[in-house]
Amino acid sequence: MCAAHANVQPNIAPPPDLSRLCIHTVTTRPWSLDEAIAHYALAGVSGITVWRDALAGDEPRAAGQRIRDAGLAPVSLCRGGFFPARAAGDRAAAIDDNRRAIDVAAALGAPLLVLVPGADPGQPLDVSRGQIREGIEAVLPHALAAGVRLGVEPLHPMYAATRSAINTLRQANELCEALDSPWLGAVVDVYHLWWDPDLGREIARAGAAGRLWAFHISDWVTPTDILTDRALMGEGCIPIRQIRGWMERAGFDGYHEVEIFSTRRWTQEQRAYLREIVAAYLAHS
Ligand code: ZN
Repeated sequence: MCAAHANVQPNIAPPPDLSRLCIHTVTTRPWSLDEAIAHYALAGVSGITVWRDALAGDEPRAAGQRIRDAGLAPVSLCRGGFFPARAAGDRAAAIDDNRRAIDVAAALGAPLLVLVPGADPGQPLDVSRGQIREGIEAVLPHALAAGVRLGVEPLHPMYAATRSAINTLRQANELCEALDSPWLGAVVDVYHLWWDPDLGREIARAGAAGRLWAFHISDWVTPTDILTDRALMGEGCIPIRQIRGWMERAGFDGYHEVEIFSTRRWTQEQRAYLREIVAAYLAHS
């Protein structure tokens, strides 16, 4: 091609950047793991976070290989945690289950196990928080041996009774500082934390300590059912781009993980939904 022609190339837009886009298998719950792998890869998605129920008896090492063969990164395994319980036997069972989850993450090739801390409505939150700390402390040696990091995910206060006595990033930071392990960090999920006036400061604090390990995105609509009514980015009131900016200024350069529980979306044709996810990611996050 001569120099003159090189100057009259049509103005071709660069391809959209999906290099940081990861999707949680629960987002497209009707799909099997292999359907999710195939469709995500075809759509140009870069990473996948695998929920344990999506493995459903699958051999995790083989599943991890299929994920990598499709060109996807296994970003994390969801989820461990749920440490608090009034009965000591139940707490011991939770610790055993977390050790098994760490082994699954290692076999899958996922560098991070997400911990939903847990809570027991039959006891004070402070007691649950102590049990969360004890549970994580008990499994940290196993995480180190397996080479799997643990990410504490604070949940919205509406979940404080049964799912998480850790409700702010400040609490997660304090827990990480108290246990002081290079294998323990924090997960920032905009759905759970967007309302917190201290969020920017606490993201900076986690980043400065090198403990900012995952970023989950979705949106909050009203009225809402907090269990299965999360929305696509741009449909609600969460300032996702502002929070993403805080994450990046704090040094986070990992995946942006779309995690949406939605009975409405699960009834939709999932390939069309995946196209909407990609478009919403590019336009609003
Ligand atoms: Zn999350």
